[in-house]
Amino acid sequence: MNEKKLQQYAELVVKQGIHVEKGEEVWITGGVENSKFIAKVVEESYKAGAKKVVVDWVCDATARLKYKYETVSELGKVPPYQLAKFKYAAKKLPSRLYIDDEDPDAFKGIDPTKMAKARMKSYPKIKPYRDAMDGKYKWCIAAVPSKAWAKKIFPDVNEEEAMEKLWEAIFYTCRVEESGTNDNWDKHNAYLIQKRDLLGSLNLKYLEYKSSTGTDFKIELIKGITWGAGIEKTNLGKTFNPNIPTEEVFTTPLQGTGDGLLVATKPLSYQGQLIEDFSIRFENGKAVEVKAKKGQQLLEHMIKMDENACKLGECALVPYSSPINQSGILFYNTLFDENAVCHVALGAGFKELLPDGPELTTEQAYERGINDSMIHVDFMIGSPDLSIVGIDENGKRIQLFKDGTWAI
Ligand code: ZN
Repeated sequence: MNEKKLQQYAELVVKQGIHVEKGEEVWITGGVENSKFIAKVVEESYKAGAKKVVVDWVCDATARLKYKYETVSELGKVPPYQLAKFKYAAKKLPSRLYIDDEDPDAFKGIDPTKMAKARMKSYPKIKPYRDAMDGKYKWCIAAVPSKAWAKKIFPDVNEEEAMEKLWEAIFYTCRVEESGTNDNWDKHNAYLIQKRDLLGSLNLKYLEYKSSTGTDFKIELIKGITWGAGIEKTNLGKTFNPNIPTEEVFTTPLQGTGDGLLVATKPLSYQGQLIEDFSIRFENGKAVEVKAKKGQQLLEHMIKMDENACKLGECALVPYSSPINQSGILFYNTLFDENAVCHVALGAGFKELLPDGPELTTEQAYERGINDSMIHVDFMIGSPDLSIVGIDENGKRIQLFKDGTWAI
């Protein structure tokens, strides 16, 4: 383990990730297996000026037992003390850091119907608080290896070696070096922002996707919508990097539009289970047919989680030459795999991409075309020959992506 890089990484998530400022409250969610790294992050948060740092520990093994033994009705309950926590968060808006180390097979064998039903019961109870916080607080998702996750990616080496390899892969894809990591991120953010602003200036009305994988798809964009990338801002102008790593420049499409076929080019890890070799066909903006060689039932449940889970909420551009794709590693974790190649997401869109978005309620944003759903699930469609053409209001066609990478 390279201690210098580890230290740089802990500082990265605190400084670039949630950008901790003096007097803030920080909430960290992290796995019990990584208590040592989490402790480093807690210390960096205090050093950056946090007045209080709270850790919510998660554990795949006990979470699995919960899904195995509890009834749907019990799983779907949100007890008053948990609701009180959501209420507190909606009012005080602590900065949130999620340090993910989930085993992609954590919930393998657990009935996906049970998990879906439980979530459908609990989600409406916490949704008002989530909506109230949307766009108002700083948050970041980053990841650290767990033994099970590392072995899933590197099955041919022993546990210790697999952990070491995954750490190195995380450092590489997150641009972590023994020194200068912060500068790397300033430069990377500047690059992403330049692409973001360029795309925004084109005032595109449609995106048209074509690939030899079978992807053949066209979707409409909302008039006046902006694009997002890298560093983001809360409604009060506080900056944060929601994803470490990040390579995407993304927008939110007009909900209820989109026709054609999208063919996934990487497996999708969803709720601790894998969906592989799948495609989704859209008609009038809705997923009307899904086909998966593995995880068919899971995929069918996913698009029926609520009435808008079958519509798209995100279109993201990532060149095929991204460091994550270059690494040749399939991470079985969306945070990494979505930043390998172009992707779209089913479910909720981003209201903050409307110029007046932060002031709108979720309902108002939906009226304006931003999808609203309890899910937001990215899946990857980028390929070496993916073409994306943007079409503006006058019908002018602009080649945005050619052969899987930037053409502008
Ligand atoms: Zn995305």
